[in-house]
Amino acid sequence: MAQIRLKNVSKRWNNFVGVDNFNLDIADQEFLVLLGPSGCGKTTTMRMIAGLEEITEGEIWIGDRLVNKLEPKDRDISMVFQSYGLYPNMTVYENIRFPLKVRKVPQEQHHERVMAASKMVELDDFLQRRPAALSGGQRQRVALARAIVREPNAFLMDEPLSNLDAKLRVSTRAQIKNLHHTLKRTTIYVTHDQIEAMTLADRVVVMSKGLVQQVGTPMEIYDRPANTFVASFIGSPAMNLIKGSIEGGVFTSEGIRIEGLTLAAKGPVTLGFRAEDASLAQASGQIEAPIYTVELLGDATMLSMRVAGELVSIKVNKDYRAEIGELARVAIPASACHLFDHSTGARIA
Ligand code: ATP
Repeated sequence: MAQIRLKNVSKRWNNFVGVDNFNLDIADQEFLVLLGPSGCGKTTTMRMIAGLEEITEGEIWIGDRLVNKLEPKDRDISMVFQSYGLYPNMTVYENIRFPLKVRKVPQEQHHERVMAASKMVELDDFLQRRPAALSGGQRQRVALARAIVREPNAFLMDEPLSNLDAKLRVSTRAQIKNLHHTLKRTTIYVTHDQIEAMTLADRVVVMSKGLVQQVGTPMEIYDRPANTFVASFIGSPAMNLIKGSIEGGVFTSEGIRIEGLTLAAKGPVTLGFRAEDASLAQASGQIEAPIYTVELLGDATMLSMRVAGELVSIKVNKDYRAEIGELARVAIPASACHLFDHSTGARIA
């Protein structure tokens, strides 16, 4: 059982707060992704769970053990890093076997466990090679096999795909997801890539500046972002955000007017809507503005236009063609709109 619990965990270096009062229960077998921009505190959070970074305040529990004072090697977790950390003078076989030797696992188990782990990541044909004779993707698979061979209670993965090219990233990502399904071990995975987070996670923790911004399933975070930071970090393109004001359920700003909103409040707000929730209007639209760019994506066409000083993206049918400068009328249903506090950015409707 590896339920992992963080209670009021903070990390400070002198006056700088790296992680601020982090609270979370990670369920046994859950795949949890820590997501956020560079410097938001995700690696520090993971290093504290691993025991590689001392915590300034709070408690970390793994299963029913308080691990604050426990050495990394006694926490029964395996780590996989972005830099694979392989031993260059050992073969793939020896690299994978190394954790078993260090942990004094009985010799007679080694061969079977190394073979099982290497099969899982499809490395069985490369066992006698040294890391220098492997591609980046193969090296990362050796690192994965070396984590698997220990049969730990939990895996911690820190941007394991960052050094791979785009195609390999997709296939290795699928392999990690499949491994999680097979091994059923609690996994905490750090990334700044929202696609990785959305595709891998049972739940995502979105972080910014040391603070947790939202915890939820990928769809919860996509459909109901807790604030403008999450709204602008999740989704490709990011959610359109426009500052304006609301009165009587009508939002207005320069070049945009949306009626029928459910918010009774009056005053300045930030309106959000996703590119795919907008469409081209037959007659008058909620936005009427000249087209700024037309981008052909293959499966769709992306239009952008300037509205209230922001570049707004609209996803339309792949066959739609238009010229830059042409007037576009855009329909935005009130039901697809998100409203955020204009100063704090917190979701209000
Ligand atoms: P990245 O994606 O770039 O790895 P991250 O979200 O993982 O970023 P962390 O490595 O957790 O970010 O760092 C969080 C913040 O803490 C950063 O501003 C970083 O500069 C700071 N920090 C990390 N380690 C130390 C340290 N030893 N001393 C002082 N500040 C540190």
